[in-house]
Amino acid sequence: MKLKVLGSSSRGNCYLLESDDSVLAIEAGIPFREVKQALGWDISRLSACIVSHRHGDHAAHVKDFVSAGVTVFALPDVFTHAGMKNRVCCKEVWPGKGYRIGRWSIIPINVVHDVPCVGYIIEHPEMGRTVFVTDTMMLEYRIPRVSHYMVECNYADDVLQRNIDNGSVLPMMRERLHGTHMELETTKGIIAGADRSCLENVVLIHLSDGNSDEKRFVAEIEAVCGVPTYAADKGMEIDFSLLPF
Ligand SMILES: [Zn+2]
Ligand SMILES: [Zn+2]
Repeated sequence: MKLKVLGSSSRGNCYLLESDDSVLAIEAGIPFREVKQALGWDISRLSACIVSHRHGDHAAHVKDFVSAGVTVFALPDVFTHAGMKNRVCCKEVWPGKGYRIGRWSIIPINVVHDVPCVGYIIEHPEMGRTVFVTDTMMLEYRIPRVSHYMVECNYADDVLQRNIDNGSVLPMMRERLHGTHMELETTKGIIAGADRSCLENVVLIHLSDGNSDEKRFVAEIEAVCGVPTYAADKGMEIDFSLLPF
């Protein structure tokens, strides 16, 4: 099992979880052509795509996935905004309900953003349990036996303040970011309070271009969790195989 990062920023998000026999895409925020290329032009390997919310950097290309015959799992809000209600390949999800896609299972969980948004608990026998959480100010749940976290670490308050002070970021952004995206200390709190008995690695996602500090974020989170920690970058591949504990 491998995680491939095809995009992880406000310019476009998409990740592939690749098992031996199938691939699950997370987010449809990059052109489908790039996804096809990453799959070696064999889209029959793609089981489905799961989407967190309607914003363009996560859902701008949902239509292209559906047109290619890929089943997309997302909140009804995502399909309404894409103008594609009731299509066969559009599967509406409800937070807290479980869905099976071949050997994958997913459970959407509510998070806190400025539009309806979900994270996902994703399971596969070769991977164990992955928690995917992005575009949220916090995570309310403590999920047991997580092997892999893909968790937003968007900005640090002090970096943001420095940017506001030097005029490169508008002061109004402070309030917007506080209510919609995950700050370093919040991410740290989630990892510090998590059940880490099965934890193998942590992938920090959706880092802000200007208000983050990749090396520092990785070092600070790694110090808390004690397992290899990465900041997701386009083109990165990370082993997500389940280790026998
Ligand atoms: Zn986003
Ligand atoms: Zn968003």
